[in-house]
Amino acid sequence: MSPDFDVAVIGGGPAGSTMASYLAKGGLSVAVFEAENFPREHVGESLVTATTPVLLELGVMPAIEAANFPKKYGAAWTSAETRTIDSLGYGAGPHDFRTAEIRFDEREQPGVDRDFTFHVDRSKFDLILLKHAESLGATVYQGVRVNKVDFDGEHPVVRARIGGRSVDVPVRMVVDASGRRTMLGNQLKAKVNDPVFNQYAIHTWFDNFDRQALNPKGDQADFIFIHFLPLTDTWVWQIPITETITSIGVVTQKKRFQQAEGTREDFFWETVASRPELLDALKNADQIKPFKVEGDYSYGMTQVTGDNFLLIGDAARFVDPIFSSGVSVALNSARIAAADILAAHAAGDFRKERFATYESKLRKAVNNWYEFISIYYRLNILFTAFVQDPRYRLDVLKMLQGDVYDDEEPRALAAMREVITAVENDPQHLWRPFLGELRAPTAKASF
Ligand SMILES: Cc1cc2nc3c(=O)[nH]c(=O)nc-3n(C[C@H](O)[C@H](O)[C@H](O)COP(=O)(O)OP(=O)(O)OC[C@H]3O[C@@H](n4cnc5c(N)ncnc54)[C@H](O)[C@@H]3O)c2cc1C
Repeated sequence: MSPDFDVAVIGGGPAGSTMASYLAKGGLSVAVFEAENFPREHVGESLVTATTPVLLELGVMPAIEAANFPKKYGAAWTSAETRTIDSLGYGAGPHDFRTAEIRFDEREQPGVDRDFTFHVDRSKFDLILLKHAESLGATVYQGVRVNKVDFDGEHPVVRARIGGRSVDVPVRMVVDASGRRTMLGNQLKAKVNDPVFNQYAIHTWFDNFDRQALNPKGDQADFIFIHFLPLTDTWVWQIPITETITSIGVVTQKKRFQQAEGTREDFFWETVASRPELLDALKNADQIKPFKVEGDYSYGMTQVTGDNFLLIGDAARFVDPIFSSGVSVALNSARIAAADILAAHAAGDFRKERFATYESKLRKAVNNWYEFISIYYRLNILFTAFVQDPRYRLDVLKMLQGDVYDDEEPRALAAMREVITAVENDPQHLWRPFLGELRAPTAKASF
């Protein structure tokens, strides 16, 4: 069978649409197979500024701007802790742990022409990206699930269900962008669940939630807020969706949920009650969607590229969402992989070696995220202290901007590793009571 398309993309989320746009722009014939009919809801609503260069390069920024998503100028953290950093012996100045914040405008970022990004209603955002790929020439099939890819013949053959029947589509190359469904990763048995992170999230939207309720400064209503709860390894996101609607999600260890009695709703309310001011603000707001749960979401892949295929976005790797990295990794993994695919197409050679640049950049970037995340869970006050320490602030901000695709390891990581080791090795250390339970290795990612 001669190929029907140069490239088949499985999944039309941010990773798949971005890939399809780059390839169609580069003159390849591309088909996107998306299992659902858009618009569809999706978790992952707060962007970082590393998405901006991709949205600009693809020419989709005007459509994103026209959607009037809330602008995101920075991120802030709050906690119930009232002691100062100095009183705990850090010596970074008279800050306390109750709030820390960063603004994107504090650091210039290559390719970024503005000091904000967006919080997005994913049903709208993902539709804009998919329509844009179509406008650039990609063929988009919605409501079409790919069940298998057959790699046995001369070309890969995508087996999809269209209108109730099974259809075979021969292509030159397959890109798996199926998100946490990890279509190809499952088929190839390449998926490895994270040995340490076993997080669980429960989330919904509230109307009329007072976004200033836990914000002593009062001028950051459009920031993402991360509220630490006085429960080990547990935090809450607060993300503006419209002027009045706010997304609220609790992230915790799955075992805490399993040990709890009662429904998932009970669990949500009991957990937020550990910050009474948060509970009050939520009780005064109107919940406008049912609760939704996301579990078991951290994993890696033993293989992200191979002859005639590669994996991007969540289909390649998922790490905890604490730093809002997911959509940025989806867009940038697609951008970097598309360059390798275009070169492979020009050479008429889609063997694994052609995708080496992509694989090494992705692994480095995601390993940096992973290490920041493990440090965060091992000792989250260290993260807050480093944000407020002029020596490391810009380094941490660079990571929070999603600017992680160059080769260097951020300086702050090495310094954080040293502090963690000191705290873990000294039973008398003042920070000892703040140690978390999730012990992912900090020196290197666990897989
Ligand atoms: C609790 C939680 C909170 C998060 N918060 C944030 C955040 O604040 N900011 C952020 O940037 N990220 C966040 N994320 C991560 C973010 O949701 C993802 O990283 C992002 O959606 C990845 O995009 P993607 O295109 O790779 O996958 P997806 O967006 O999941 O898209 C995959 C698409 O593939 C389709 N598909 C699946 N299987 C098949 C198949 N067999 N055939 C055809 N189509 C298929 C699906 O229908 C879907 O539309 C969060 C994640 C979680 C779990």
